[in-house]
Amino acid sequence: MNMTGKNCIVTGAASGIGKAIALKYISDGANVAIADLKLDAAQAVAAELTAMGPGRAIAVEMDVTDEDAVNAGVQKTVDDLGSVDVLVSNAGIQIVHRIEDFPFSEWKKMLAIHLDGAFLTTKACLPHMYAQGSGTVIYMGSVHSKEASPLKSAYVTAKHGLMGLSRTLAKEGGLKGVRSHVICPGFVKTPLVEKQIPEQARDLGISEEEVVSKVMLGKTVDTEFTTIEDIANLAWLFAAFPTNALTGQSIVASHGWFMN
Ligand code: NAD
Repeated sequence: MNMTGKNCIVTGAASGIGKAIALKYISDGANVAIADLKLDAAQAVAAELTAMGPGRAIAVEMDVTDEDAVNAGVQKTVDDLGSVDVLVSNAGIQIVHRIEDFPFSEWKKMLAIHLDGAFLTTKACLPHMYAQGSGTVIYMGSVHSKEASPLKSAYVTAKHGLMGLSRTLAKEGGLKGVRSHVICPGFVKTPLVEKQIPEQARDLGISEEEVVSKVMLGKTVDTEFTTIEDIANLAWLFAAFPTNALTGQSIVASHGWFMN
């Protein structure tokens, strides 16, 4: 299995998990559009990864909640790289509040980035994938696609929603060669998680050390964080897999926090 010559879009690839996935793909010969809200950061990552090779990266400015920006970014990718074979819908943020305190504007922002973003990027890539008769879509879910935690109503709702979108795409895309997957990480130490530690300590009335040891890692079997490399390896497996046998499947990587 390898990804030589595959052309990919990874959203939110200027940081964290998305960047690690782009690195893994490029190191295996794929080309990757680093699609991110932050153009400067995307350009820096694209230059860094292209220098490592053997694949190459391009930077694409994209707010995944903006239909025109998504359509333009996907078209730019096809124009520059020649096709889109793999979409990793990964861009995401976290906002935590108790339900009764959750500002409606922040609820809508969460659903827009996670769900509208996944829908719009999928919708923009599918015509290209259907025309060539092949494609892989990978959604960045979470253990919270299958489990709930206090304070995370918007995130849990959005991440559960991705399961529905992925399964529907698996059924619609099956006879057209397009497959669909969800990766469900446990806690991975990225800027998204670093930001949550003081916020959860404040909202739960516990220390930051307790947030890490009890809330984040308390249910793992070995008190270890999942790593960006763990998730990149799974994203490689789904993208490089030689058949459509895994379509519609999700996989959890959480050091035993959630087992199914
Ligand atoms: P991160 O903050 O390191 O990276 C997120 C990236 O998304 C950033 O580069 C940011 O600029 C980009 N982004 C944010 N809003 C965007 C928008 N509207 N349009 C385009 N790009 C946008 O976070 P991460 O931890 O790498 O998270 C990546 C994904 O993994 C998210 O979907 C997150 O929910 C998911 N996830 C993370 C963890 C974890 O523990 N870190 C666990 C499970 C799932």
